[in-house]
Amino acid sequence: VFVCFEGGEGSGKSTQSQRLADWLEQEGYVALLTFEPGDTEVGRKLRTIVLSPETGEISDRTEALLYAADKSEHVDTVVQPALDRGEVVITDRYVDSMLAYQGAGRALDLDEVEQVARWATHDLRPHLTVVLDLEPEHGLGRFEERDRIEGESLEFHQRVREGFLRMAKADPDHYLVLDARADVDEITAQVSDAVRPLLAQ
Ligand code: C5P
Repeated sequence: VFVCFEGGEGSGKSTQSQRLADWLEQEGYVALLTFEPGDTEVGRKLRTIVLSPETGEISDRTEALLYAADKSEHVDTVVQPALDRGEVVITDRYVDSMLAYQGAGRALDLDEVEQVARWATHDLRPHLTVVLDLEPEHGLGRFEERDRIEGESLEFHQRVREGFLRMAKADPDHYLVLDARADVDEITAQVSDAVRPLLAQ
């Protein structure tokens, strides 16, 4: 079973993905908790390149390809092997982040970005994507230091948010959209309820 958490900055993805992993372990499942970008050796280097303000300007296509490279390494060396071992894989960000940030956020053609992302991931799709929805005004306020992306305009982050919501709306069977400002325990409970039936399959 493959579950993704998606959402904008400061939406609580890492907290909720950790809580889902804890719940699964309690229920007796082996869960692998991972994230993008940067949870492989080459990914850590790519993350530094793409997020460090010191990198300076990166063209939109280059940025998309760097994220795609991180994704490809992640699926090949972390995600797919764990799925093959029968583990439940939880990732904090996946393909939808690329479609939202590089597709909706940047001035790139969404279909082309999607083709690159699908190619990079062998078109491996999650059983469930949890979108923790939050107005960017709230999420960005949580950070004092900003990376290259967090420093983008509010309009950019609004397009990203709309991007996530559009994807969820187009495929409701595979998405759970939750208000990121809801009670933390309540969100965890709703996520567990959505994941439980997937485990029985
Ligand atoms: O999830 P996390 O906050 O660690 O993500 C790191 C940064 O990478 C965030 O600022 C996010 O906006 C950015 N990002 C991006 N495009 C992606 C994935 C992440 O701009 N495809």
